[in-house]
Amino acid sequence: MVLDNLGSSLRGTMDKLRGKSRLDEDDVQEIVKEIQRSLLQADVEVDLVMDLSSNIEERALNEEPPGGTSARDHILKIVYEEMVEVVGDSTEIPLEPQTIMLAGLQGSGKTTTAAKIAWWFAKKGLRPAVIQTDTFRPGSYQQAKQMAENAEVQFYGDPDAEDPVKIARDGLEATEDADVRIVDTAGRHALETELIDEIEEIERTVDPDRNLLVLDAAIGQGAKEQAREFDDAIGIDGVTITKLDGTAKGGGALTAVNETDSSIAFLGTGETVQDIERFEPDGFISRLLG
Ligand code: GDP
Repeated sequence: MVLDNLGSSLRGTMDKLRGKSRLDEDDVQEIVKEIQRSLLQADVEVDLVMDLSSNIEERALNEEPPGGTSARDHILKIVYEEMVEVVGDSTEIPLEPQTIMLAGLQGSGKTTTAAKIAWWFAKKGLRPAVIQTDTFRPGSYQQAKQMAENAEVQFYGDPDAEDPVKIARDGLEATEDADVRIVDTAGRHALETELIDEIEEIERTVDPDRNLLVLDAAIGQGAKEQAREFDDAIGIDGVTITKLDGTAKGGGALTAVNETDSSIAFLGTGETVQDIERFEPDGFISRLLG
């Protein structure tokens, strides 16, 4: 059954419906309220929560459960389908030569994610390289180099260079042997013009096959603006949500994929290079509703 591991309070509400073959308006409203509460707590953006819940409400009230389906299973199916509609399948990441560029604010987990994705490709039998173009955050070169070492993948960076575009260009040349290049970019604390200009220029030079937006799971309502700005600047093909090993549920990812019409590629679940998973909708949706 879908959504088997629902959070306790929604499950409690759902379980009260056991044995019922039809839902009345009060039942539906109680469930919809519970879903709204869970999604808002998981940091899903308010407008999106409202859209989702009104779709669920309308369908639950108007659609007849197919014969033999209990009211409880019927509404669970509706909730699941509406959530999947927004979150989608995981971003397609073919196991072939390609260049992936990472974008995101400082501290979102880009450098860590770059090494993780490289590790993931290496495990699949490809030859990845990490190119570190962050000249803004002190220590980023050392950190990226160390993490690439941990992932046992090729690394290019230049601690003395000041121009990230030149590092990117040199990095592509220096990693010709690799088949997958992961290009890490600098972040800033906020969406400054300088950051957007820089990332646009790097993207023109690198011409990546995919741009992934890296978001901290704890990002709340700010996800929408970030996703919009990066999407306008470089086009976002997928989202990676980091720090899902913490308490944050990562609802910002839902907002971001909705805003950029993209999907979720990877989940970060810890600080080491192995702490990466491909996105998979069921677990993520249960977590958001939990
Ligand atoms: P950047 O500024 O975007 O490059 O961010 P970093 O890669 O330096 O990450 C910022 C901090 O978050 C570091 O302390 C990382 O170890 C930590 N971090 C990144 N991803 C994860 C994750 O999935 N889980 C946990 N617990 N920490 C993470």
